[in-house]
Amino acid sequence: MRLLNLVLASLIAAAAAASSTSAAVEYTLINNATGTPGGEKFKNKVGFQYTRQVLSDATCFIFTIFNQHLDSERKNIDRITLIIHSFNGVAYAINNEIHVSSDYIAGYTGDVKREITGVLYHEMTHVWQWNGQGRAPGGLIEGIADYVRLKSNYVPSHWVKPGEGQRWDQGYDVTARFLDYCSGVLRSDFVSLLNANMKNGYSNDLFKQFLGKSVDQLWSDYKAHYGK
Ligand SMILES: [Zn+2]
Repeated sequence: MRLLNLVLASLIAAAAAASSTSAAVEYTLINNATGTPGGEKFKNKVGFQYTRQVLSDATCFIFTIFNQHLDSERKNIDRITLIIHSFNGVAYAINNEIHVSSDYIAGYTGDVKREITGVLYHEMTHVWQWNGQGRAPGGLIEGIADYVRLKSNYVPSHWVKPGEGQRWDQGYDVTARFLDYCSGVLRSDFVSLLNANMKNGYSNDLFKQFLGKSVDQLWSDYKAHYGK
């Protein structure tokens, strides 16, 4: 019993040490892979202190990209939890939790701190973005997450170049580059308008509404702009 109390007390202390509050959001970090190559590499090359700062910075950065200056414009989230554990893949976000794979960290051969930073900007966008009540194309959701990563400058070298890709809603880097054209060349607040209007639903007509052309026409223009 006494031992159990001691264990409980140290668990609570550890949880408190791993939590912090910033901009009314509490971040809880959990490394469930300690003692494994990925878990130890995370601890040594990235670490909780740096990761907590990245999560806090990413939240502020995303509010800026989304032009959300009032709490009423943002999702109502007061706690975000990040968990490092073993699974196939890189990372995912669900229920205000971000899961990062310790196996991916173990196998990553480049600058793992920089890579995880970029991954966290992407996953944090999923936490904060609207999804059109589930009606927005998955490729657009992923494209907005990678657009935020692009704007954060934590972009991996293997990404497509501007103008590359097959379809506007192909997702990830392809859609991110297209959105960067839409906001960089056509209308600087486009992604924030798009996200704001995805709170209650989604239609491709949002492109026409804010940019004056259909999304297919914009994709053609984009390809032509970069000579593709
Ligand atoms: Zn994603």
